[in-house]
Parts: sequence; structure tokens; C-alpha cells
Amino acid sequence: MTQYTFSIAHPEQQYISINVEFDCSQETEIIQLPSWRPGRYELSNFAKNIKNFKIFNDQNEPVSFSKITKDSWQIACRNSKKIKVSYLYYASELNAGSTYLDKNQLYVNPVNCCVYLVGQENEASKIHLQIPDHYEIACALPTDGRTMTAENFDQLADSPFICSPSLQYNEYTVKETKFKLWFQGEIKVDWDLLIRDFDAFSKKQMEKFGVFPAEEYHFFFQIVPYKAYHGVEHLTSTVILLGPSYAVFEEHYKELLGVSSHELYHAWNVKAIRPIEMFPYDFTKENYSRMGYLCEGVTTYMGDLFLYKSGVFNFPQYVDELKAQLQKHFDNFGRFNYSVADSSFDTWLDGYVPGAPSRKVSIYTEGCLLAFATDVFIIKHSKGRYKLDDVMRFLYHEFYLHGKGVSEEDYKAVITKIAGENIESMFEEFYNGTASYESLLTKSFDYLGLEMTQTPSTTYSHGRLGFKSIPQAQNFIVKAIFPGSPAELGGMMLEDEIIAVNNYTCNGELEKWLQYFDLDAKRITVLRKGTLLELLLPEVDRKFYSVYDIKKIESPREVQHNAFLFWSK
Ligand SMILES: [Zn+2]
Repeated sequence: MTQYTFSIAHPEQQYISINVEFDCSQETEIIQLPSWRPGRYELSNFAKNIKNFKIFNDQNEPVSFSKITKDSWQIACRNSKKIKVSYLYYASELNAGSTYLDKNQLYVNPVNCCVYLVGQENEASKIHLQIPDHYEIACALPTDGRTMTAENFDQLADSPFICSPSLQYNEYTVKETKFKLWFQGEIKVDWDLLIRDFDAFSKKQMEKFGVFPAEEYHFFFQIVPYKAYHGVEHLTSTVILLGPSYAVFEEHYKELLGVSSHELYHAWNVKAIRPIEMFPYDFTKENYSRMGYLCEGVTTYMGDLFLYKSGVFNFPQYVDELKAQLQKHFDNFGRFNYSVADSSFDTWLDGYVPGAPSRKVSIYTEGCLLAFATDVFIIKHSKGRYKLDDVMRFLYHEFYLHGKGVSEEDYKAVITKIAGENIESMFEEFYNGTASYESLLTKSFDYLGLEMTQTPSTTYSHGRLGFKSIPQAQNFIVKAIFPGSPAELGGMMLEDEIIAVNNYTCNGELEKWLQYFDLDAKRITVLRKGTLLELLLPEVDRKFYSVYDIKKIESPREVQHNAFLFWSK
């Protein structure tokens, strides 16, 4: 059994000391560190955080080794029954998928920092923690005192833990499943509110699948004093990073709910139902998959839908989330260039940064909108008998529980079988193609008695001049430019810093100055790579950047019935 020991002698240096003891079974062994983590489909090269890498035999004598790739080491074990590997891991990054150490906590995502012996991925392991006595341990792995046990490397890699003297804890139970809630960081938790809402959406998700993949599930909340919002799914847990502390149970509470429902849905979708190319994960290299629309698209769609169906969100709150996805979709001209399937393949290239303008789309946004259209497709063709829920339930029971990953052909075949109508053309045009979603979405909304409306933006820079910017101190940084707009024709560039309008400095009020000079020619002063420039924006008799909305419309009884079935809880 592999033994890992973590110790933290000098937390302020942020180096975790890790010792690993492996049983040798071959003359030559390869020690590997993962190069990416589940949930983020790009290479992260965690080996860059490793220092003082050393290997010893069972006589405690140093063993020579050679590094054969950026994150693997080859050694000759000779007659040694065991080898011991020791190294320091630099833990300075605090996010939902990272490893972090300071005087308040040891937070570990094992996939970042645990090496394994190639060929021994199925071996069980023990993790020993040398931490101060007053530290508590929050972890989904079975824990005995200061020792945790993992059945295999996949389970270890996907079971993050937090050790800290300041964890706050509570729990709730749905049927036989226990849900454990942990908070780390400065936060006054409203437990009654939290447990009421979490209980509701957990219950509803479990009801649809009929079964939960584990006996216990943990929510680990890392709360920070600055603005933060993201989560990472794990095998039987999730880490969610949120901030600032004072907003988490106030104006950001709906984000807390949104990300938590999304992450819980991942316990079935991606932790169990998984694209065939990632079944199992190969931690040594890219696991290309074109199916991000299933992992992240369906999860984004369902996460919010379950908040509505469980009564946690009301209808307008739910529609706001869908509207936000519509807006992101229509604002991104990458939709004319690259399909969601192609963009999924390319997450390994630049999936988590804006990247080259108008090059690609988001697996979350486009995947969510297509999941909605697919849901309508199923209910429509099955005459109200089935929904996307039934497809997901089928994939869980007939694929995951039979030890199988899901291919695109499988997903299409299951939808087709359940809907009773071939979905092929939707995949060809929208999932794998770049056809405009407009008519597909319009028809889908129409089927439910909803109307998608589009009105020109009333924000001056968006609607009249065709650019979007974000404030930076008193100035504004250009982040998007509409093709053919005054901004583009006037020579504005992305990342230009807008300083003045008609020679008057913005002073944090760009829109007011633009509005004030409505009838005049607009000369915009920008700072571009150390050079001041004046851009004259020409008049164009068109509007740019629409605002999308979804409204209920008067509809015949038949449509009202469709809507009733679709939204029924
Ligand atoms: Zn996700």
C-alpha cells in the first residue's frame, strides 16, 4: 500500500513537505505527477511547484533517477522492496482546484501534488497528516485520526481536503445520503437558510436520478475577503470559492446557490456519466473530448433548472439565469466561427481565457442553450412523456452503472430513442456546426409560450458606438468591439484605455460624457501601449449590441399545456 505523509513545518514559506512510500514490483519504475486536474480541461503542469525531489531505497540510501518528461521520473529499484520519494510542493494558489498553505489552513487537491507509480494506479493508499493538534480535517475520504484511506489513485486524486482550526460545520440528510457542509475563511453562515435551500435542490436532483452515486457528499466552501466565484466538482465533494465574506449571504447568495446546485449535478454528470475519451482519466496528457456540451452544458442548464423546480428560485429568477446565457451567446461573434464541439476540443488550448476575439464559444453557455433546445425537442417529440432528465437518468443507469463512458453517437442515440425522433440534424447544424441558434431558440421558446425579444442596448457605448468596456480606476478598458460599428470604423482596439471624451477626462463617468455629447462628433482619447491617441468615431445610422429578454406571451391552451408539462416539478 502506498503511504503519503504531508507535513507543514513552516506554513509561512508555503512549501508542503510530502513523503511517499511505494512498494516496488519491477526493476524499473516510473513515478508520475498529474499534468492536469479533473474539472479543468487544460494542462496545468503542477510539476512546476515541485522542489527538492529525492528518492531513497529501503536502506535509506539515495537512489539515482532521471526525469523523462516534464512530470515523470524513472528509477532503477534494483533489489529494494520499497522506494521513498520526498519533495516539497509550493502551495501558494488559492482557488477551487488548487493546493494552498498558510498559517490558517492546509488545503490540498491531491491531483496537484501527489505522485503515483505508473501501473499501480489501482493500489490503495494511506495519507498521514502531520498537522497541529487543534486542526480539524474536512475530507470525503474515510478518516481515522490523522490518517485517510483511498481505494485507488483516482479516488485519492479527486478527494480534496482542508485542515484548519477554524472550520465551521453542519449537515443535512436526504433519504440515506448525508450532505456535509464545511466553511473555511471569514464568514457568518446563515445555516437555517442554507440547509433549507440545499435540502430542497438536493432532494429534487436525487428524485430525478432515483439514486445518489455515494453515501456521503461534502460541500467545501473557501470564503475569501475579495470578489471570487467558482467551483470545482470532485468525486463525492465539491470545493466552492466565494467572496467577499460580507456579500456571500447577501447579494451573492444566488451565486452560492447557482454554483452549488451546478456542482452537485456534476456528482452524476461527469463524475459518473462521462465522455468516453475521459473514461478513465489519463492524468499524463490531454484527454480531448468534443462533448463539453454534455459535461458542462447540461450541468449549467440543469443546475439552474433544479433551483427552479425545487422552489429555491422563482420563475423570474430562473429566467434571469437563462437570459444571461442568451446575452453571452449573442454577444460573442465566435459563434459564427467555431462550434461548441470544436470549442470543447480546444479547451486544452485556451478554454479558460477570452483568447483571440471571435474565435471560439463557451461549452457552458452554448452547451446550456443547446441543452434547453434539446429538452424542448424531447418533450415535443415524445408528446410530453419525456424530458432531458430521462436521457440523463438512462445514461447514469445504462452507461455509468455498466462501467461505460458515453460517446457522441451514444448520446445522440439515447436522445433519439427517448424522444422518438432523430436528433441528428440538430447535432450537425448546432452542436457540431455554426448555424445561428436564433430560429432554434425562438421555436423552442415559442413551444413553451415564451418570446425571446431583442432590443438595442440603451447603454450609449454599446448601442450607439458598438463597444463594451470595464472601468479601471477613473478610465475604461475596451473589452469588445462590434463589427462595423463606429468604434471599429474609428480605429478603436481591444485593451485601449479610454481617458477622455472630446478632451474631457472620463473621471469614472464614460456613459454620461458620451450622452452629453450625443449630437456632437465624438473624439475619444485612448492610451494604447504607452501612446496617447485621439480617435474620431464616425456617425453610423445603426444600433449595436442588443439586449435579450424572455417574456411570457398569451398562448393557446395547447401551448399552455406544453409549458405546464415542461416546467412541472
Ligand atoms: Zn461545471
